Amino acid sequence: MQNVNQEDLVKMMEHVRVYANNGKVADYIPALKKQRPEMHAVAFQHINGECVSTGQVDYNFTIQSVSKVLSLAIALMEHGVEAVFSRVGLEPTSDPFYSISTLEVGKPSKPLNPMINAGALAITNMLCGGNSEDRVRTILSLIHRITGDDTIYYDEEVAKSEFETAFLNRSLCYFMKQNGVITGSVEELLDTYTKQCAISMNVEQLAKIGALFANDGKSLDTGEEIIPSFYSRICKTFMVTCGMYNASGEFATKVGIPAKSGVSGVILGVVKNLGGVAVFGPSLDEKGNSVIGLKLLEKMSAHYEWSIF
Ligand code: GLN
Repeated sequence: MQNVNQEDLVKMMEHVRVYANNGKVADYIPALKKQRPEMHAVAFQHINGECVSTGQVDYNFTIQSVSKVLSLAIALMEHGVEAVFSRVGLEPTSDPFYSISTLEVGKPSKPLNPMINAGALAITNMLCGGNSEDRVRTILSLIHRITGDDTIYYDEEVAKSEFETAFLNRSLCYFMKQNGVITGSVEELLDTYTKQCAISMNVEQLAKIGALFANDGKSLDTGEEIIPSFYSRICKTFMVTCGMYNASGEFATKVGIPAKSGVSGVILGVVKNLGGVAVFGPSLDEKGNSVIGLKLLEKMSAHYEWSIF
C-alpha cells in the first residue's frame, strides 16, 4: 500500500477545510462551545515510523468518545471476552450515541455495544481499580505506553464542565444500575468517564494510537505486544460497525476503514498494515461527526484505495 504523502495531504486538507461552515461545534458540554469551528489538523502515522501532518498539529483537543476504544481494550485485557460481553452487546444501532431507548425495551436490558455512551459507561464501570483515580491512571498509562509521551493528561476544565452537566449520562447509569448492569457509585463512574473523555492530545499523538491498531496491537518502536492482537481486532471490528455512531454504515460505504469519532470533532482511523490517521475539525454534522474529518477521510480513502471491502 502506498504511503501518505505530505503534499497530497496539504492539498486534500485545503479542499475540505471550507466545509467547516456546514456544521456546528458541540455545545452540550459547555467547555467545548469555545472550540473554533475553522480549526483543522490531520496526521498520518505510518507503521514504519514516518509521520506526515498539516494544520494546527500542536493543538490539543479532548479525545471524547475515541477513549471508548481504549477503555474497551483495557476491559478485554483485564476480564476477557466472555465477562465483557456479558455486560454489553455486540450489535450496532440506528439510535444516537446518547440514547436510552433500547435500555428500556431491550431484553435483557444491556447496552447494545461498547461504543455508545451506555455501553462505554458499563465498560468503564468494569475497569479494575479502587477508585476513579486508579482507573483514569490505567487509561493514561496505556496511552503513555503507546505514544511514548507520559505528559499526556486530561483537560480538567472540560472534565469538570461535562461532569457538572452530564444529566443524560447520569440517567443512563441509574437505569443500568437498577438493572444490575453497573455497580457502585454513579458519581464515581461519571468522574472516571468524564476524565477519560477529557484526555487531551494533538493529532500526531492520536495518530500513533491508530498506528498501534494498524500494527495489530504491537508497539511501532519495539514490536512489543501492547494490546493482544485478538483484542485489537475486536476493537477495530467495533470501530467499523459502531465507531461513527448511527452513521457507521454510511461511513463504511464511503471510507471503509475502522474509525472512531468524538464530539470534540476528532476522528481516529486505522489503515491495516499502513498506519493510523487522526483528523481534528470541531464543526460537526447532525450525527455528531466532524464535517472536515468525514470529507478528508473520504478523499484520502478514495485516493489511496483504503477501503477494506
Ligand atoms: N463525553 C461525551 C459524552 O458522553 C462523549 C460522546 C462523544 O464523543 N460522542 O457525551
